[in-house]
Amino acid sequence: MTNKQIVKDFDTLVPNPKCELDYKSPYELLIAVILSAQCTDKRVNLVTEQLFKTYNTPEKMLTLTQQQLGQLIHSCGFYNAKSKAILEASKDIVEKFSGRVPQTMEELTSLRGVGRKTANVMISEAFKGDAFAVDTHVLRISNRLGLTTSKDPDKVEEDLKNFFDKKDWSRLHYQMVLFGRYKCKAIKPDCENCPFQKICLYYNKKEG
Ligand code: SF4
Repeated sequence: MTNKQIVKDFDTLVPNPKCELDYKSPYELLIAVILSAQCTDKRVNLVTEQLFKTYNTPEKMLTLTQQQLGQLIHSCGFYNAKSKAILEASKDIVEKFSGRVPQTMEELTSLRGVGRKTANVMISEAFKGDAFAVDTHVLRISNRLGLTTSKDPDKVEEDLKNFFDKKDWSRLHYQMVLFGRYKCKAIKPDCENCPFQKICLYYNKKEG
């Protein structure tokens, strides 16, 4: 199957892919992405709807102690690690970037608490650049479709970027995330009528 055919099939499967996190600024998106680790977007949106009423800039966020922030984001899980990451990233944004979220991979990953996946989401979603963020869904689907043989997100990102045209990266990311969330699930994927049956290693019992 060519990259063009795969893109065409994803465009049919998920015609209008978009980020399901609610945000009004790059900073709000950054916080929402940090909170979304191991948590549903729906839950994150409930939490940020309240949180951002008061704490929607790094300066305002830094008026909270880690314990206070932990209480506000408690229901997202891993609240200790997440509150620490949010406060450290906010501090770096204020001190190194004059309070504005930076836009390059190098600068974004220089923020404490911000990894490559989060940076890629920021580049494609907040700054409309070309990036291919690899989360658990993208990693699983890429392996099932034989687009990579690696479980290392950085290597998977490299393989996907080599295979697909740059203009398709950001859209494919969301298409894979939504396809993985609602159809090609980790357990009991809905394989009926899936256009990828022929090339799918999972369907053909060669990949978990
Ligand atoms: S055939 Fe099943 S496992 Fe393979 S890509 Fe489609 S939904 Fe996923």
